[in-house]
Order: sequence, then structure tokens, then C-alpha cells
Amino acid sequence: MSTSAPPTGAEHVQQVAPVAAGAPEVAVVGAGIVGLSTAYALLERGVEVRVYEHGEPGNGQSGGVSRIFRHAHDDPRLVAAARASRAAYREWGERLGVEMVSPDGAVAIGPAVDDHLPLLQDAGVAARRLDADELARRVPLLTGFDGPAMCDEEGGSIRTTATVAALSAALGDRVVRDEVLAVRPLGGGPAGQRVEVRSGGRTDTYRRVVVCAGRGTPALARTLGLSLPVTQAAHVRLTFAVRGEAPGTLATLQDSSGVFGETGVYAAAAPGNASYGVGLSQTTPARDDASMPVPGGLDELATRARDYVARALPGLDPDPVDVRHCWVTTLPWSDDAMAVWEADGVLLPVGHNLYKQAPGLGRRLAAAADGEGLEDWLRPEARLGLPG
Ligand SMILES: Cc1cc2nc3c(=O)[nH]c(=O)nc-3n(C[C@H](O)[C@H](O)[C@H](O)COP(=O)(O)OP(=O)(O)OC[C@H]3O[C@@H](n4cnc5c(N)ncnc54)[C@H](O)[C@@H]3O)c2cc1C
Repeated sequence: MSTSAPPTGAEHVQQVAPVAAGAPEVAVVGAGIVGLSTAYALLERGVEVRVYEHGEPGNGQSGGVSRIFRHAHDDPRLVAAARASRAAYREWGERLGVEMVSPDGAVAIGPAVDDHLPLLQDAGVAARRLDADELARRVPLLTGFDGPAMCDEEGGSIRTTATVAALSAALGDRVVRDEVLAVRPLGGGPAGQRVEVRSGGRTDTYRRVVVCAGRGTPALARTLGLSLPVTQAAHVRLTFAVRGEAPGTLATLQDSSGVFGETGVYAAAAPGNASYGVGLSQTTPARDDASMPVPGGLDELATRARDYVARALPGLDPDPVDVRHCWVTTLPWSDDAMAVWEADGVLLPVGHNLYKQAPGLGRRLAAAADGEGLEDWLRPEARLGLPG
């Protein structure tokens, strides 16, 4: 471990670009939420890092103004991972002086509530059933619903823009604007391992490399001889303006009920609660070369999201004010699956719905890159995400 100073506190968001101290020992490829979290967690440990990003930090799968933080998962190990991640979001938010997750809670309605609530309560998560009146107070935009409903009190809308800005500012000039073309282990054994990174403008070597490149990860993995079972697809989420005054409280929403014509809908609030991002959990398929076999797939999903809003969320104007199209990468065994591959000093995290898990995952990746080894529950063989 190096002796360079870890980030100290709220001053990081004020500083323009804290300067890296000493030669970086670890490289992170990609400045989405997973790469930024991993790099920041390395600094927490006093390990110097360089982050390569060929676009704008936080503008890949991590783009857009909100995400849902929820503890609910089918796999109790992911519930535990989400708890660790929630704690890290709280700690980092306090240290960097920004709200990273809203305090309004994460609401779910529909049959999934009966499966998830006992798992949450067993794990010590503050989650409870809601009656129709409490539901109306938590999600005042929703039309009347008296089926199963619950609230995860420590869930909420992730303030994605503020989080990416705060982590990027804390990393300062450790984030370089460059595309990584190849990552190549040079050998040396676990203790003396060196890994070469060739990017557009430089060739450097590091003790460890963490590839957090989102849909760019499978290509870099192939260069290492790894074939990752990642499926790519395209997704659309629409933002709708709240009619009238913004509600003081606006929880996130997951609707598995089917009562309003869809069984997989999610929604999260933008800061200030004046708008709500709504999407179907469904995606439209994409081939490896990113072409889409169903050309009208995104349009169909957008129309269904809009129709859902007209039926279920009368508190919103059903004409969208914004749209977010983006790629998603999933593993075959679950929509919430995540796993970390490892090869000769290179770590490659993969999965979907990683925004909520990123700080906790980042800390585990930082520990592994710092020589503590990768924990078995994160390896692909553990099939993280399958029902417990
Ligand atoms: C609309 C939408 C809604 C979602 N809702 C939720 C939600 O509610 N809750 C949740 O937890 N998750 C949600 N997700 C999933 C979550 O956003 C993603 O899992 C997460 O953002 C992935 O982050 P990442 O850092 O792995 O990838 P990315 O954000 O894609 O970051 C990868 C970065 O690597 C860079 N890169 C790629 N290749 C290279 C290269 N060769 N050299 C240099 N840089 C490179 C890219 O430019 C990119 O910035 C949602 C996703 C979408 C699209």
C-alpha cells in the first residue's frame, strides 16, 4: 500500500482538480459509477490510481439524473451487498458534502413484495408493509392502489449527477481522457505482477488493472483470452414533469402488479421532485456489434412507458420532457446478477443494476487490487443474483 494521502473531506467538491501524488499503482478503465467508486475506494486505502475514460465521466450506462437505490433482491447475498453499499453512499456523501441518495424511500407494489419483504426484514433492512393511505403519501403521483405494497426506508433516488461530480472532483487529474485499446499482463507472479495498459496517448504499466468499461469490458476481456457471457441490450427511460407543485416526499417506485397493464415498471425522482423518470424493466435486444434486430424496439418500449404513466400516474403530465436511451449489459442468470472475473492481475466486474451496488463493489475491488484477493462470493461461479 502506498503512503499517499487519502481524500480528506468536503473540500474535495470545492477543489477544481486535486493533483495525483506519486506514480499510480492501479489503473481503472472507465469512469462510470463502478470505475469512479473503485478509484475513490483505492484512494481511501492510500493507493494511487489512474482512471482512463474515453468519453464524459458518468455518461455511459451511468448517464441520466437518477437511479433507484433499493435493498430488495432475490438473492440474500445481494441484499447484504446493498446494505454495505448504502453505508458507503452515506459515508461518502457526508465526507464529500453531497446528498447521494434521497431520504424518501423505495416503494414496491405487486406480488414481488411478498417474496422480498421477509428477506429484507431477515437482513435487518428497515422495510415494512404500506397500507393504501401510506402508499399515497409516499408516492402521491400514483392512482389509488390497495394491493401489496412495501417501503424500504433507506432506499431512495440516487442523485447520479451529484455523485459522479463529487467522485470525479475528488479524483481530480487522476481521471485522464483517453481510450484504452489493450490490457496485457506482463507476468511476474502475484507479488511482482505488472500489467500493461495501451491507450490512445500512452503506454503504462501497473500492479493491477480494474476494467470497469461497461459494454467495453467484453472486448478488453477477449484480448485477455476471456469470453464473458454478457448480453447487450438497449433500454429507454422517459422523464415526465409533475403536474402542479412538486411533492415534498416522492419515493422511488417498482410496480410488479400488472394492475396498470405492465408487470415490470420502475420510477425514480429527479432532485427537487418536480419530475419522475419512468421506464419498463424490459429492454430490446442488441447484437455484439451493437446493431438492433428489432429497429422499432426502443419506440415500442417508450410508447408503453408513456401509456403506463397515463394509466397509473395521474400526477404526471404524460408528455415526456426528457429521454434517456442507453445500453445495458446483463449476465445470463439474473437481471440483478453481478460477478467479477480475474486474470493475471486484471479484475473485470460485470453486471446490471450496478448503480446501487457500486460503492460497496468498488471497495471490494479496491481491496482485491490492493493485494487482499478477490472474495469468492464475487466470482462468477458464485452465481450472485440467483434466488437464495
Ligand atoms: C435507464 C437506466 C436505468 C437504470 N436504472 C437503474 C436503477 O434504478 N438502479 C441501479 O442500481 N441500476 C440501474 N441501471 C443500471 C446502472 O445504471 C448500470 O449498471 C451502471 O451505471 C453501470 O455502471 P458502469 O460503471 O459499470 O458502466 P458505465 O457507466 O457504462 O461506465 C463505463 C465507462 O467506461 C468507458 N469506457 C468503455 N470502454 C472504454 C475504453 N476502452 N477506454 C476508456 N474508457 C472506456 C465508457 O465511456 C463509460 O463511461 C439503469 C441503467 C439504465 C441505462
